Amino acid sequence: MTTPTPDPIVVLGGGPAGMACALALRTAGQPVVILERYREARPAGNILNLWPPPLKALREIGVDMTGLGAPNHSTFQNLRGHVRADVRIPQHVVDEFGGGFIGLLRPDLYRRMLAALPEGMLRTGQEVVAVEDRGDAVRLTLGTGEQITTPLLVGADGIDSMVRRHLWGDSPKREHRLHIIGGYTFDPVPEARWGELPLIHAATVQGTYSSIRSDGREGYQWWVLEAWDPAAPEPADLLAHARRLAAPFPGALPALVAATPADQVQRWQIRDRKPLKRWSKGRITLAGDAAHATSPYAAYGAGMSISDGYFLGQRLVGVGLADTAAVTAALAAYERPRIPHTTAQVQQAYVLGQVFHHAPAPLRPVRDLILDRTPLLQKQVGERSPGEIIAQLEEMGGGIRQPA
Ligand SMILES: Cc1cc2nc3c(=O)[nH]c(=O)nc-3n(C[C@H](O)[C@H](O)[C@H](O)COP(=O)(O)OP(=O)(O)OC[C@H]3O[C@@H](n4cnc5c(N)ncnc54)[C@H](O)[C@@H]3O)c2cc1C
Repeated sequence: MTTPTPDPIVVLGGGPAGMACALALRTAGQPVVILERYREARPAGNILNLWPPPLKALREIGVDMTGLGAPNHSTFQNLRGHVRADVRIPQHVVDEFGGGFIGLLRPDLYRRMLAALPEGMLRTGQEVVAVEDRGDAVRLTLGTGEQITTPLLVGADGIDSMVRRHLWGDSPKREHRLHIIGGYTFDPVPEARWGELPLIHAATVQGTYSSIRSDGREGYQWWVLEAWDPAAPEPADLLAHARRLAAPFPGALPALVAATPADQVQRWQIRDRKPLKRWSKGRITLAGDAAHATSPYAAYGAGMSISDGYFLGQRLVGVGLADTAAVTAALAAYERPRIPHTTAQVQQAYVLGQVFHHAPAPLRPVRDLILDRTPLLQKQVGERSPGEIIAQLEEMGGGIRQPA
């Protein structure tokens, strides 16, 4: 007599969160598949930076990290080049993780993660339209009407997550009333400083660039960010608009924007959802933007999504999927440390966006005086925030099968 093969865990969504969850669960020894609605898992966007915890997670779940990304040292500056905050990452972390905070192109991350997925793990063209937790299993209904049963559902289905809605009801998107325009170039721009990531704030606009490495080529990505009414149409000529915004900035930014072809420029409205107090219920949980959609001010949304996968895998090592109490306890252990960390990052990213881009005009000189003359920004974004991110490395322990 042969033992029946157990139904695999279903991870819904083939984005960074979904792929990381699936690879981590596999590392944990659990059977798993990813269901993705589109015909392929494809990146929405071009530019990306990653902090050390997701780099550690990617390494642990079998993603080839060779030559991935370029190192960056971040500083917050004013328009005159005065450094308001120096983002400090300990040298041993910089040495261990290819420069600490790395710059890369999003399609490169997708290619590497997709290459790590074993044959058959990713099932594309599978849109899930309904979810029902039946106690001993979760039943999923696909758009085709087909039904699938799984012992555990991980909703990694992005900011408009249907799994989140199913578990916790609808909550409106929070409009930040900001937009970001970003692009990249491999053209030589002599003014650009390799390895530096200056986040420069004018009165209402942020302009930034970062080094990138892609397929062995070295280049730069950049972005400009400003207040924007979400109801207003997008600028007719995106590149021309970005050039206008970048023009007053010192250093390389204007030249980098000028060197960027129009098809390498994109724009996003910035929105998130208010953080949840709980993610999991019964045999269902959340990961990535479904749990903690985050403004790109944090440059950490994909990073937190990848780390979610790592922690989820770690908590599910050795858990019998037939045992509802054990699954529920593992999910509670997964979300317990993740919720405070991701909530703090989501809220900080929101507040920074408001302070830098929505301060009333009469208050801006006071704001800038405080940021220029006091250690406030250094303490918050130069030390506390990277400190919390680096503390994650400790919390991750020795590996998915070797918790701290
Ligand atoms: C301009 C910009 C810059 C950013 N920069 C950074 C950065 O520098 N660093 C960083 O870490 N993060 C950054 N982020 C954030 C990052 O992009 C997101 O946090 C990340 O992509 C979230 O990944 P995810 O897998 O949770 O969701 P998604 O990437 O949205 O993936 C969700 C997947 O689920 C699928 N799906 C949805 N519903 C269903 C369904 N019903 N059935 C089947 N499949 C479904 C979707 O098709 C999609 O493939 C940035 C974001 C923006 C907009």
